[in-house]
Amino acid sequence: MHEMSIAQGILDIVLKTAAEHNAVKISCIKLLIGQMTQVEPESLKFGFAALAANTIADGAVVDITIIPLVGKCNSCGQQFTVERYSFLCPLCHSANILVVSGRELAVDYLEVE
Ligand SMILES: [Zn+2]
Repeated sequence: MHEMSIAQGILDIVLKTAAEHNAVKISCIKLLIGQMTQVEPESLKFGFAALAANTIADGAVVDITIIPLVGKCNSCGQQFTVERYSFLCPLCHSANILVVSGRELAVDYLEVE
């Protein structure tokens, strides 16, 4: 399961960060997830909760913000939201598209005690 390995990676990051700040408990984790990662937020929260049991992140609130998939046309410079993975410029129909956002998978911030 895709989300389980991502949840493990996130848990590793937050536990390491919390340890660096001598935190005893992680209460809230804010995540930025790009649409292109195709992560299912509920599955990720579920996986994280299961993995975080018996760590200082046990019971932490996981807040997920989905970052939309935005492309920029390399031919005409048009920036647009990519719908249904159609990587074609709506203006000039070029397929030469740069992904501007939507690939994020990051911890935005942590609330610790
Ligand atoms: Zn274009």
